Amino acid sequence: MRIDRILANNPGAFTGPGTNTWILDDGNGSVVVIDPGPVDSKHARSILESVGTRTLVGVLVTHTHSDHAPLANPIARDMGVPAVGYAPGPSFQPDIKLLEGARFGVGDLDLEVIHTPGHSKDHLCFRARNVLFTGDHIMGGSSVMVEEMGPYLRSLEKLRGTGLERMHPGHGDEMGDPDGVIDWYLAHRLQRHEQILGAIEGGAGTIPEIVEIVYADVDSSLHPLAARSVQAHVTLLQDEERIALRGDRLVAAPSPQ
Ligand SMILES: [Zn+2]
Repeated sequence: MRIDRILANNPGAFTGPGTNTWILDDGNGSVVVIDPGPVDSKHARSILESVGTRTLVGVLVTHTHSDHAPLANPIARDMGVPAVGYAPGPSFQPDIKLLEGARFGVGDLDLEVIHTPGHSKDHLCFRARNVLFTGDHIMGGSSVMVEEMGPYLRSLEKLRGTGLERMHPGHGDEMGDPDGVIDWYLAHRLQRHEQILGAIEGGAGTIPEIVEIVYADVDSSLHPLAARSVQAHVTLLQDEERIALRGDRLVAAPSPQ
C-alpha cells in the first residue's frame, strides 16, 4: 500500500494550507483518488500525472463541500471510472453510492466505508487496513466546523478503539495516535459544550452573543464559522433540555426537581 498527497491550491481560513487530495495505491498499481478538490485544471493535471500509468478504479469523495468534491465528476468522466460518494451534492453526482459498512475494492485492497455524519450529513471516512482517510471529520492541527453535534460526537466515538494507526485528513498533515487525537477532539467538544452552557447561564441569549464570549480569543474573521458550531451545540443543549428558548432568547433550563 502506498499513499501520496497532492495539495490543492486553495489555502484559506476554512481550508488551512489547502485541500489534501490523496492517491491510494494497493501496492500493485491499482489506485483511487480521494477528495480531488475544487475544479482547477492545474490541480487536475497534477492528479493525473501522479496516477500516471497506474490503473485508476474510482474517484472518491468524503463529502460534497465545495473544497472536496467538484473535481470528482470531471476526472471520473475523463478517465472512464466511477465517481463515488454517499449522496449527490451541489456539484457532485455519484455514479456509485456508498453507505455505512460498504466496501470498495482497489485491486488487492478492500476499502471500508464508515458513515461519519456531523461535519456534514453526507460525510464518509474510508479505511484501508489501519489507515483512515478522515476528510473533514478530523483535521490535522485544528478542530472542525460541526453542523450537527450529537451525530458528530457519536461519529468520533465510533472510530475510537478500532485499531487505527494513522489518519490522513482533508486538511493539514497526517496524524499518528488516532485514539489520542479522537480523545482530544471529544474533550475539546465537551469543553465547548460546557462553555456555551456557561455563557447562556451568564446571560448570553443569542448565537452572536455566545460567540463573542466563547470565541473571544479567536480572530473575528472566523466567527461566522464558529457561529455554525455554536448553533450545533445549542441544538444539542436544547435536545438535552439543559437550555430553552424564552421569547427569542436562550436561557438555562431550571434543573429538574
Ligand atoms: Zn467540509
